[in-house]
Amino acid sequence: MTPPAETDPTQLRSEIQRALDLRLDWFKQHYDIVSHHAMRPNGERVYLGDKAKRVCRYCGLAAPQVKFENLAHAIPDQVGNDWLFDHEECDDCNEHFAKQVEDDFAKWTLPWRTMGRIKGKRGIPSHKSNDKQFRIDANQNPAEDATGTNGERHHLKIHMGVNDSRHELDEATKTVKLTLERQPYVPMGVFKCLVKMAVAVMPPEEERRCAHLKKWILRPDHTFESYPYKPLGIIYQFVPGPLPNDQMNYWLLRRKPDRADDCLYMQFVLQLSNHVFQIALPMHVEDRKQLEAGTFQTDLWPNTWASVDHQLQYGRSGHKQFDMSGTEKVRGETTSMTFHYDQLIDGPDIVAPAAGTEPQAN
Ligand SMILES: [Zn+2]
Repeated sequence: MTPPAETDPTQLRSEIQRALDLRLDWFKQHYDIVSHHAMRPNGERVYLGDKAKRVCRYCGLAAPQVKFENLAHAIPDQVGNDWLFDHEECDDCNEHFAKQVEDDFAKWTLPWRTMGRIKGKRGIPSHKSNDKQFRIDANQNPAEDATGTNGERHHLKIHMGVNDSRHELDEATKTVKLTLERQPYVPMGVFKCLVKMAVAVMPPEEERRCAHLKKWILRPDHTFESYPYKPLGIIYQFVPGPLPNDQMNYWLLRRKPDRADDCLYMQFVLQLSNHVFQIALPMHVEDRKQLEAGTFQTDLWPNTWASVDHQLQYGRSGHKQFDMSGTEKVRGETTSMTFHYDQLIDGPDIVAPAAGTEPQAN
């Protein structure tokens, strides 16, 4: 990240603008958007599929062989989806996804969702360390915290011992760097969860090409024997500063017909607050050439909320590629985030940076 103060603002502005234009141009040249939704608080609910049909898009079974009694979320409710539902997901598949893939995604993203104050089904998730000595809770009283700018903003309360090595306090810059533990998760499960979201929102002509993906995400285990496609990469982007945490965007992108050699066939992008998750769907038929050549290239889909002005004020977007090819549980992993805080309150063995503002990328 380049702190805005260190560079000439005019030059920085044109650099940020140029980076943004380049990304948008690249996607315009290579991909068509085949499915997109921008979900807002109090927005209208959208139901995918045909309620009268009662055939599950994943397992292919129909009522009464399978039941459709639960209202299935096309994108998990843990990331705040209260808008997008699916009539074509049976109760068995729904239960399978919750257990087998959404749980991994939930655990992998939890530190970011807590710090980004992204509300799920049960409110903003708290972060608790394994040794119970360190926890972060969001103050969920909107009457106290609403700023009126980006919907509800919530303060974070951070409880830990003053000597806890999981934080580094810098009183000069009023920042605190926190090292957060992730709960154990399976990388392949995280990746499959994004694939599941993509399949849910696919137009029928694309869904027909993805029988192999449906079969793969319905497996009761995570192995490469069932589908030996590698690597499973998630491109993760982070933009610092306050961005909407009560909205959600996704895009499903399909390669333009005349770009068959240049890029992978389909990409799915999920934008949540400060975070963008981007994957290429495993398509061994459409991407055979690229897979054989071992060349994967893509640009980064920009966080559409992080305007040039926003990045000038809060810092530029950064990214990281995660290899999610692992099939075993990852334990003891950490991620770190740096915050600005407004006020430091000393208590008995507690450091509580009250009203921590926005996390910075690390
Ligand atoms: Zn099903």
